[in-house]
Amino acid sequence: MILTNIEIGLSIEIDDKLVGNLIYIGKKHYPNEFGGFLIGNYSDDFKKLNITDTILPNRYKSTPFLFERENIGVDEQFEKFYKENPQKFYVGEWHTHPNNLPIPSNMDIKAMNNITNSKEVAIQNPIFLIIGYNKIKTELGFYIIFKNKIYKYETVNK
Ligand SMILES: [Zn+2]
Repeated sequence: MILTNIEIGLSIEIDDKLVGNLIYIGKKHYPNEFGGFLIGNYSDDFKKLNITDTILPNRYKSTPFLFERENIGVDEQFEKFYKENPQKFYVGEWHTHPNNLPIPSNMDIKAMNNITNSKEVAIQNPIFLIIGYNKIKTELGFYIIFKNKIYKYETVNK
């Protein structure tokens, strides 16, 4: 799946198998939210971000309206992953919205701003994926914070 935002000038390509996997993992936690980290790499010209993998948190708090991951034990998982995949790195986060649309809540926007401005995050503009789903359909929303403004990505093809 390829996504683009004309204003940002960075397109996103996410592996369809990974998307399917995230939806599957997320729905297993119904009716609670769930999520994790997104891993990938840039194209050589830095115009495309490829999202290829996920790392899941060891510990988290989740309810039907909230998902908070904890960092405990995550460093070890990242270290192991980076050793095996030296060309890949953290590119963002994902979480689900059960029985809801993939629209960021006020808490989500706060968290997105905190993560984007965090000194521990190596990339300038992490990607935030929200998976909204109900019994009938699943919708994806990809967001990025650029110069303190939130932008939504549009799907180019599927
Ligand atoms: Zn949310």
